Order: sequence, then structure tokens, then C-alpha cells
Amino acid sequence: MNTFSIAIHGGAGTLVKGMMTPELEAKYKADLKRALDHGYAILESGGTAIDAVEKAVQVLEDSPLFNAGKGSVFTATESHEMDASIMDGKTLNAGGVSLITGIKNPVSLSRDVMEKSEHVFLAGEGAMQFAKELDYKLEEPSYFYDEFRHNQWLEIKDTDSFQLDHSTKKDSKFGTVGAVACDQNGNIAAATSTGGMTNKKWGRVGDSPMIGAGNYANNKTCAISCTGSGEFFIRGVVAYDVACLMEHKGMSIQEASHEVINKRILEIGGDGGLIAVDANGNIAMPFNTEGMYRACKNSQGLEQVSIYKN
Ligand code: ASP
Repeated sequence: MNTFSIAIHGGAGTLVKGMMTPELEAKYKADLKRALDHGYAILESGGTAIDAVEKAVQVLEDSPLFNAGKGSVFTATESHEMDASIMDGKTLNAGGVSLITGIKNPVSLSRDVMEKSEHVFLAGEGAMQFAKELDYKLEEPSYFYDEFRHNQWLEIKDTDSFQLDHSTKKDSKFGTVGAVACDQNGNIAAATSTGGMTNKKWGRVGDSPMIGAGNYANNKTCAISCTGSGEFFIRGVVAYDVACLMEHKGMSIQEASHEVINKRILEIGGDGGLIAVDANGNIAMPFNTEGMYRACKNSQGLEQVSIYKN
């Protein structure tokens, strides 16, 4: 049997030990572990990588702690616009949604785009129409209300600035959640979901729903989910860049993801991180920020839930 494995993230940024209370830290870790365990249970019972990444991301979207689904940040018009994507490394099928509102689990809508439409990427009103035709229930804005996120927005509303999740004047911390998995058959998949940036406007879209930028999976190379300054991750075509280094330069998953996060994306000014698996179940979780909410588990007994460096 193939070594099976899963890795998840809940965003990267200025996460320095001592900045949050031990109680809050424990809450973050508990929600990461819950998402990890839900995804891992699917792999353990012989389920597919695509089911595992969708489930893990759904659990993170349902947590108010992360900037995705329920915990999404506020836009300039005091609403929520969410982006998500999913990709199956076995078939190279993919789905993405952008600028959607009121959907509890955007990752599942992206999977429906992949499986129930002829398209890869649906945005805005059209994506909402697609959800309506599939009888998606819309949540009230109150479902997505969170006092902390609202205060983040109040601080910068009516200005031209926009912020990555939880960033304060000096600190920055990205939101976004993601999962990558390798199942017992050696098939891999990736999923990513985000509320984007606080106070974003003009229909701003980040890297998370873009196949090849914030999310990618191909059994031949790797499955990747990114978090960080989306504009740079789009320009660096980060997720696909890792796959290219593996395919064309013969790098391992560790080497390729390290090269992209600690060198290539830094050179163009991007900060953040990614999680990656390959079809042998190997995992990499590099980041060039102070920390990244992350966790991983494999069938060889590895299990890790971490926030800070080291
Ligand atoms: N990459 C996401 C975006 O630019 C943000 C994040 O990772 O927090 O929308």
C-alpha cells in the first residue's frame, strides 16, 4: 500500500510566540487537528485524496478562526467575497469559484464546478447562479459576522488600504486555508479557500482560486496549496512553479518547494508559504514568514500541528 498522507494550513504571517494567549493558541491547534483528523480518516478508510482535501477544508471553513467560509474577512462594502478551488491530480480536473457570497462551504461549490459544469472557473453573479441551480442554501450575513474581523475592517474602511488577514500596522498574517493529500492508491489532490483581503474592492481576486497560482495537483509531480500575498503568488505562478521544478529539473518535493518559497517568490517580494505532497506521500510545508498555521499526518506515524518556526 502507498504511504498515505495529508497536510493542511490555516494561513501564514507574523505569527510570533507570545503574541496570542495560550487559550487562543490551543483553540487554533484544536481546530487544525480536527480538520486534519477528518481528512486523515477518509484516507485511512480507503477514501480518495479529493474527498479528504474537500472535507479538511470544509472543517476549516466552518471555524471562525480562519479567513475562509465562516471566518471570512470584510470587503470594502462590508460584505464577504470568497474564493476557492480544488484540483484532482489523477485526472487534472479542476474547479474554481471567485467573488461568491453567502455560501457556507466555497470549496464544495468549486468541486461542483469541477464535476457538474463544463467549466473550470466561475466568478461572481454567474457562480452564484450556478449555486442556485444546484439548490445551494444561502447563509445570512450574520453567519459570517465576527467581531474581531469587523473591527479589523472598521480600522481601515473609507481608506484606500487593504490588508491581509489579521495584519496590524506592523504585523501581517495571511488568512486562507488549504489541504493537500495523497491516498492509498497514490492519487493526490489539493484544495484552497479564502475570504481574501480585508477591505478589498473592485472585485479583487487573489491566487487562491487560480489553478497554478494558489492551488495545483498533478500525480506526476505534486499537490500544492498556497497562502500569502496573492498578487505575488499569481505573478510567480507559485503552485505550478513547484511542479515544474520537480518535473523539469528533477527536484524532490522538499527541494522544489523550498526553492520557490525561500528564493523565487522572495526575489519578487512575495511572502507566505505553501503545503505540498507528492504521490509517494512525502510532505513539505515551507514558509518565509515568522509562522504558518499548519498540520500534517501520514500512515507511517508522523503527526504534527504547529504555528511557529521550528
Ligand atoms: N493568498 C490569499 C489572497 O491573496 C490571502 C491569504 O493567503 O491570506 O487572497
